[in-house]
Amino acid sequence: KEQSERKRGPAIPAGVEKTTFLKALDELSGQLGKENVEINDQPLKDGWYMEHPNTHDAMHVLDEEELVASAVVYPGSTEEVQKIVLWANKYKIPIFPISIGRNLGYGGAAPRVRGSVVIDLGRRMNKILDINPVDHTCLVEPGVTFYALYEEIQRRGYKHLWIDCPDLGGGSVLGNTLDRGIGYTVYGDHWACHSGLEVVLPTGELIRTGMGAMANSSSWQIFPYGYGPMADGLFSQSNYGIVTKLGMTLMRNPGGHESYLYTFPNEEDLAPLVDIIRPLRIGNILENVAQLRHVVQAIAYSGKPRSSYFQGEGQMTDEQVREIARKELKYGDFTWLYYGMSYGPKEIRQYKLDIIHKEFLKIPGARRIDPATLPKTDYFWSRDRIATGIPDLEELQWVNWYPNGGHIAFSPVSPVRGPDATELWRMARSRAAEFGHDIFPAFCVGLREMHLIVECVFNRDDPDSRKMALACMRAMIDEAASKGYGEYRTHLVLMDQIAKTYNFNDHALMKFNERIKDTLDPNGILAPGKSGVWPARYRGRGWEM
Ligand code: ADP
Repeated sequence: KEQSERKRGPAIPAGVEKTTFLKALDELSGQLGKENVEINDQPLKDGWYMEHPNTHDAMHVLDEEELVASAVVYPGSTEEVQKIVLWANKYKIPIFPISIGRNLGYGGAAPRVRGSVVIDLGRRMNKILDINPVDHTCLVEPGVTFYALYEEIQRRGYKHLWIDCPDLGGGSVLGNTLDRGIGYTVYGDHWACHSGLEVVLPTGELIRTGMGAMANSSSWQIFPYGYGPMADGLFSQSNYGIVTKLGMTLMRNPGGHESYLYTFPNEEDLAPLVDIIRPLRIGNILENVAQLRHVVQAIAYSGKPRSSYFQGEGQMTDEQVREIARKELKYGDFTWLYYGMSYGPKEIRQYKLDIIHKEFLKIPGARRIDPATLPKTDYFWSRDRIATGIPDLEELQWVNWYPNGGHIAFSPVSPVRGPDATELWRMARSRAAEFGHDIFPAFCVGLREMHLIVECVFNRDDPDSRKMALACMRAMIDEAASKGYGEYRTHLVLMDQIAKTYNFNDHALMKFNERIKDTLDPNGILAPGKSGVWPARYRGRGWEM
């Protein structure tokens, strides 16, 4: 979708005169080169996943001109990032770093504060600095995507190295890891698998974490802790620094793998199934992030809109959805789908697969689908690729469920227990029904916890549809919080609300975060409001939403 004209004109940062801002941009052009400083005054283009914008959120749940950049700048080195930070301090201009900016569903490339200068690190800082085939590690700049890392490993012929990628492979390894994204091999917890950061602080100093704090370290990518307080956590989901290098561990090719898919017939199978999954997952018989998906999402993978199946109003019932699934998919009658992968040579896999089969079949009507019966276009094969660390793009098909689809997610964390799964499922389902909407829920079991990811698709062109999606998300967040469930990650627009739910001892953690923010970023220039952390200059002045 492409705007015909900008309704509100360029977004100048609040509190800065337009002429001062333009003069400051000229000064920055002098330092970075004119071609690396772009004012954002043209009509906004949403593009699509591969040609995503770096000026705003292509999946905007607010009016598209609300969270927009005033300008986008392209540093080519860590030194240039430092120059930008010093420049922002001089003029008190808010800056917002992105790596690739494909953080769809969480805000894309949009800054939290309208008129911030977006620092697009990925455009020019996109080098794979090291792939170490002996230690099984790599060191990457912000612009390295999962695709790029995968392809370079293939190009070098390192058959023994695997990467781990999320559902969509076009994002930045560094950006996804900082936002605590997950993938689907044994190395799915990206943050847990990183080792070492290089960070430009909001005042322009440069630090390296872990063993990298030793100038001639031999072990930066293999021992994440280093010595003394571990600072890394401060730079994840935060606004305390701009990360310019990330060390990542790589998985060893396990010497064989086999995907499996089980279906379960009834909605009520959820609770006993989750109780079966828990010990298998903690015991590493289920080896990767376990995904339990609902039938409605399975249909939507086809990429066909809801209107091609159903013309009625309101949320579709399980019965309606199952009937479509019976006709459209080759999986028989089902409500839940479990996609998993077993790793290792045949005899090792077989040992685990036999246990899984015996346990899953305790659910009456459970079936294992024979992959040989599935065409190569079946979504099963997309999950198969992803669980072996091969990047893929199929996942987004379901945004076509509603016309002109954007999406936003509600992602609460809970214990891996039947009653918790049922409670969250019931809550998400009934809240969405109140708003007359279908949702796409998937349970992802990390190890001892699971997140229920509830994707809500809305029509970006329809203000009522956007309002509905946001109100629906807000209602779910509040209800979940009242029962002790908090989100693991969220969209820019929901950050303040979620930060407030982390309220132990009169919001003591937020007070601590604010103290760190004010110490590290006295002028409050770096990503103000990210994760609900506002610097002193903005705090309590109406910026929260
Ligand atoms: P993706 O890799 O999926 O394209 P983004 O580049 O949009 O994701 O980054 C995801 C999130 O991480 C955003 O909230 C962004 O602000 C933050 N982020 C990305 N890169 C950096 C960085 N180099 N330093 C600090 N924060 C970053």
